[in-house]
Amino acid sequence: LERNRNLNTIIIECLNKPMIELLQKIGLAADELQFNAFAVGGFVRDLLLKKNNLDLDIVIEGDGIQFAKNLARKLQGRIKTHERFGTAMIMLPDGTKIDVATARLEYYEYPAALPTVELSSIKLDLYRRDFTINAMAIQLNPEHFGTLIDFFNCQNDLNQRSIKVLHNLSFVEDPSRIFRAIRFEARMAFEIAPHTRRLMHNAVSMQLFGKTDDPRFFSELKQILSEEDPVPAIRRLAEFNLFPFLWPELKPHLKVDRRFLHILHQAQRAISWFRLLYLDEPCHNWMVYLLAIMSRSPDEVLTAFCSRFQIPQKIADRLIWQKTHAEKTANLLSRREIIANSEIYWLLKELSIEGLLYLMALARKNQVKKAASNYVTALRYIRTDLTGDDLMALGYRPGPEFKMILNDLLDARLDDRVHNREEEIALLHRTYPPDSLAAAGPHA
Ligand code: ATP
Repeated sequence: LERNRNLNTIIIECLNKPMIELLQKIGLAADELQFNAFAVGGFVRDLLLKKNNLDLDIVIEGDGIQFAKNLARKLQGRIKTHERFGTAMIMLPDGTKIDVATARLEYYEYPAALPTVELSSIKLDLYRRDFTINAMAIQLNPEHFGTLIDFFNCQNDLNQRSIKVLHNLSFVEDPSRIFRAIRFEARMAFEIAPHTRRLMHNAVSMQLFGKTDDPRFFSELKQILSEEDPVPAIRRLAEFNLFPFLWPELKPHLKVDRRFLHILHQAQRAISWFRLLYLDEPCHNWMVYLLAIMSRSPDEVLTAFCSRFQIPQKIADRLIWQKTHAEKTANLLSRREIIANSEIYWLLKELSIEGLLYLMALARKNQVKKAASNYVTALRYIRTDLTGDDLMALGYRPGPEFKMILNDLLDARLDDRVHNREEEIALLHRTYPPDSLAAAGPHA
C-alpha cells in the first residue's frame, strides 16, 4: 500500500489549477503573518482517495480570524466570522467556500485520570476529530507545501478502508459521531473497525443519548437520509440498535422487515425517477425518506420525533402537513379507477415535490402512481391563456368571481376541453354570458 509524506504529485494530479493556486495563496498569506496553515479533514481524506471535495477546511496555528480577514481581502471574498470560536467562513466570488479555524496551543486534560499533556496545536486539533480517516492535514506554507501531517497512522486506516475513532471516549464526548461513522461506512463502502464498533455498541447501551436536543443528531440523520442510497445506512442504524432512540414510539412495530424496506425502495425509485427528469429542481430527499420511514405511524409519532430532535417549527409543520395530505390523497386516489386531470390537479396542487414523491412511494395501485407522475410531468405546468387582466379587458368587472372563472377555465384546459385563447374566450362567453353575473358582468 502506498504511503505518502509529500502529496505534491497527488495534488497536481487530482486538483484543478485554480484549486492548487488557491492552496498556494493560502500558504503565502499564512507566511506573511508567520502562521502555519493546513488543509484538514474531509478535503485531505478525499484527496488521498482521489475524489473531488469542494469544501476546503483550513486550520491556522495562530489567529484564524486575522488570517481569514487578510485572505478574504486578497481574494475579494465575503467573510463571516465567529469571534468566540475563532472561526471564519470565506465565500469566494466563484462560489468556493473556505472554512477557517484556529488551532490553539492548549493543554489536553482529558481523560482526567491521565497527566496533562501539551500537544502542538495542529496535533491537538486533529486528535479532537471524529475518525482517523478525517484526522490528517496537509501543510500549505510554501516551504512545506504539500507535506502530509499524519500523527495517528491515519493513512494506514484510510488505505485499509477502516473507520476508527482516535480515543476510547470519542462517542462519550460526542455521540453524534455514531451517526457519522455509519454514514461514512455506507457512503464509501468502508468498515467500522471492531474496536470502534464495540465502543459504539457500548455508547448505545449506556444510553448516551439523553440529550436529543443536541442539533448535531438531527443534522447527522438528515445527512444520512440525503445520501444517494441511504438504505444500507438505515439498516445499520437498526443493527446498532438506534431505532429505539430515533423512533421510540415505533419500537414495537418498526423492524427492518420486508414492508419497511419496500417503502424505502419505493421512495428511492420515486426520487431517482424525479432526479432523472428534473436534475436541477431542488428536492429534499431526506424528507421523502423520513416520511417513508414514518409511513406506518400516526401523525403524532412524526410530531413527537420533530419536537424531540428540535426540528425547526416551520419544517416540522411542513413535514406533518405533507404526511397527512399525501396519505389522505393516496387513499382517495386508490379508490377511483378513472379520474379527471382537473381532479388530480386540485388534489395534488398543495403537495410539495417531497410530498408528491412520498405519495408515489406509498402508492400500492398503479393508478395512484400514474396520477402523481402525470401531475409532476404535465399537469403542474398547465396554465390558462386568459388572466384576470384579460377578463377585465373583455369587460368583466373584477370581483371574487374572477378566481372561480379562471379556475373553471383551468379545469377546461386540464381536461382538454379547450386548447388556446380563442377557445377559452368562447367557453367564457358560453359559461358566463355577459349578463349572467350580477357582480362581475361587463360594464355597459
Ligand atoms: P462530507 O464529505 O460529508 O462533507 P466531511 O468529512 O467533510 O465529509 P464535515 O461534516 O463537513 O464532513 O466535517 C468536516 C470535518 O470536521 C471532518 O472531516 C471531521 O474532521 C470534522 N468533524 C465534523 N464533525 C465532527 C464531530 N462530530 N466530531 C469531531 N470532528 C468532526
